[in-house]
Amino acid sequence: MYQYETHMHTSPVSYCASVSPEEQVRAYKDRGYAGIIVTDHFFNGNSACPKGLSWEDAAAFFLSGYERAKTEGDKIGLDVFFGMEYAVFGTEFLTYGLTPEFVRTNPAMDKLSPREFSALVRANGAYLAQAHPYRTGSWIQNPYPVDPALIDGVEIYNVCSGNETTNGMARQFARRHKLPAQAGTDSHSAELPFTSGIALREKARNIFDIIEAIKTGRAELMIPEDTHGSIR
Ligand SMILES: [Zn+2]
Ligand SMILES: [Zn+2]
Repeated sequence: MYQYETHMHTSPVSYCASVSPEEQVRAYKDRGYAGIIVTDHFFNGNSACPKGLSWEDAAAFFLSGYERAKTEGDKIGLDVFFGMEYAVFGTEFLTYGLTPEFVRTNPAMDKLSPREFSALVRANGAYLAQAHPYRTGSWIQNPYPVDPALIDGVEIYNVCSGNETTNGMARQFARRHKLPAQAGTDSHSAELPFTSGIALREKARNIFDIIEAIKTGRAELMIPEDTHGSIR
């Protein structure tokens, strides 16, 4: 099986991360993963992007986490794919399938509502999953899932921003609305007791193979043993 991380952060792009892109790539390679999707916080989330930059410079800052990871991945043999974690008042979305070029050429794409962002993502053939939909926090205005019609999938298992209760509620939400499920670590540091993600029978040629596997239920979710029995 080929293992892929679906949710991870790098420093300094994500303010909350303590690990460089190169260290992340090496850590996942050591754990036996085939690839990772870099999902740094976009400007509307926990971004460390300096204020007052032009869109071009801000985009370059945001993309540097992915680009550095990609360079290191190419060097040591780990596939690195581009993603982002988009936030609207604390409600977060994992987005796969947009390109770095798309970010560079779409100024103000950080100012959209969930409905507007969903429409933009879909109009461009990309994929949108709500991350840890029941997570609570002072910065999260609405700690519930969005309208299921706006998303293509749900993160039903999150190692670092979820717990048994919130992960369980997310799983039920996905089931109730027949939405594809995915699992991820949300890693912000290299030292973690265990990691999550998805496992595919075939190596993904690109991000769209991963999207397709999640959508069709062919992606096996990497869930620690003790909760595995109740996942499907
Ligand atoms: Zn974070
Ligand atoms: Zn995250």
